[in-house]
Amino acid sequence: MERLYNFSAGPAVLPREVLEQARDELVNWQGCGMSVMEMSHRGKEYMGIQAQAEADLRELMGIPANYKVLFLQGGASSQFSMVPMNLLRGRASADYLNTGEWSKKAIKEAKKFGKVNVVASSEDRNFSYAPTQDAWKLDADAAYVHYTPNETIGGVEIFWTPETGDVPLVADMSSCILSRPMDVSKYGVIYAGAQKNIGPAGVTVVIVRDDLIGQVVDGTPTMFDYKTHADNESMYNTPPTYGIYIAGLVFKWLKTKGGLNGMEQRNIAKAALLYDYLDATDFYASPVARENRSRMNVPFTLKDAALDEEFLKGAKARGLVQLKGHRSVGGMRASIYNAMPVEGVQALVDYMKEFEKARG
Ligand SMILES: *Cc1c(COP(=O)(O)O)cnc(C)c1O
Repeated sequence: MERLYNFSAGPAVLPREVLEQARDELVNWQGCGMSVMEMSHRGKEYMGIQAQAEADLRELMGIPANYKVLFLQGGASSQFSMVPMNLLRGRASADYLNTGEWSKKAIKEAKKFGKVNVVASSEDRNFSYAPTQDAWKLDADAAYVHYTPNETIGGVEIFWTPETGDVPLVADMSSCILSRPMDVSKYGVIYAGAQKNIGPAGVTVVIVRDDLIGQVVDGTPTMFDYKTHADNESMYNTPPTYGIYIAGLVFKWLKTKGGLNGMEQRNIAKAALLYDYLDATDFYASPVARENRSRMNVPFTLKDAALDEEFLKGAKARGLVQLKGHRSVGGMRASIYNAMPVEGVQALVDYMKEFEKARG
């Protein structure tokens, strides 16, 4: 079978070129006689792979020298607790923006370590938009401000960078990292699980400003202290070596595609294909406020939910898979991360039009 167009929210599609290179190098990496999976993480081959991945990520994102890049495990979900453990630094509370399911999980975890001040919430309209900063009630004494620039489930994206003065800004960028340029210097911590826009599941990228490292709450386990990993170049214990290698190939791929500026242009064009059509029909609808429509995750509904199953079946028959919406939202969701080619989005829109014609 040829490859399908996989609209999964995560683990998600990877660039074909990356998979093919990994295949070619699987058994014998660059003539060294073994697979990357079999290498000692302390050997010079693997250490070179990881150092190159970090260098390419730094170049792509323009990460300043006073930031550490950590390759960890435990997913973005572990960062929901590592962030408060590392960043509370003796302060009583932290500020959180609540824009959906992932924000809520981060908030729930932070409450175990201190007081949480929810600066604003969009729960009043079923998380279909993001409150603008004039509506946020920031606390000048907060340890940090946490937000989720792209809510993967709701498809709500924030395209501006919050202004938090001297209070460190923390972002869960799991589903929008590398999709467009971001000014890293505005952030204290950026974290992301890899399986949306970076590589395979199992790697978590954390980018942390170095003055925020080394002040964990008492009793923090060694593995949950950013300092442990910062001091050991993410090799305090065995890192997820194969996943980091694939992430490194993805970073190289991004560089051949014009870096993050190139990606942003492609992502704008891909998202416009879908949203323009959603706006032109009343057979389908987007539940998200226009200014917050995610370029990565596009939820949409059919006018008649009774047709959902038939829609999904027809999509699958055309090689368009993983379109079912999250159970908390219903309807459909097309995740169109960096690695989804424009042809995939076009094929989806063509099918949607055809289905509307037949059933509308
Ligand atoms: C997928 C996702 C997570 C959870 O990531 P895990 O790696 O599964 O822990 C957290 N936040 C956002 C925004 C996500 O998209």
